[in-house]
Amino acid sequence: MPAPLTGSCLCGAIRYTVAIAVTELRACHCTHCQKASGAAGSVNAVIPSSAFSITAGAPKRYGATADSGRTLYRYFCGDCGSPIYSHRATVPETLVVRAGTLDDSSGMKITTHIWTASARSWAHIDPDAKQHRGQPDMPASTTR
Ligand SMILES: [Zn+2]
Ligand SMILES: [Zn+2]
Repeated sequence: MPAPLTGSCLCGAIRYTVAIAVTELRACHCTHCQKASGAAGSVNAVIPSSAFSITAGAPKRYGATADSGRTLYRYFCGDCGSPIYSHRATVPETLVVRAGTLDDSSGMKITTHIWTASARSWAHIDPDAKQHRGQPDMPASTTR
């Protein structure tokens, strides 16, 4: 998809844009993403925060110690509950945006599955994608 991309929560109170093309789509099977989504986990576009803009609304933030041992901030709509994005407390310059909140993600493919060690037995893991049992490093382009 050509940039910019747009997205929103379910009720539309929160809207955002992504100013760059998405090249890294990660499926996270950690236990927190399972609870936060009520599903197999989350699928996220990994992008620099400089490319992300909230254009309507103000997400609420929830912070917790993730399976990695790091504090992760999760941002969501306080009205409808849609998870929108998250980032490590210490790495605000890299965001992972929930791909299911993008208005159009045609052509995108999951490139990497992470935290597969805690994947639900009914989760789908693409055997052609990269897999990590835990937390891999961020892509070189977004590592500080
Ligand atoms: Zn909402
Ligand atoms: Zn996760």
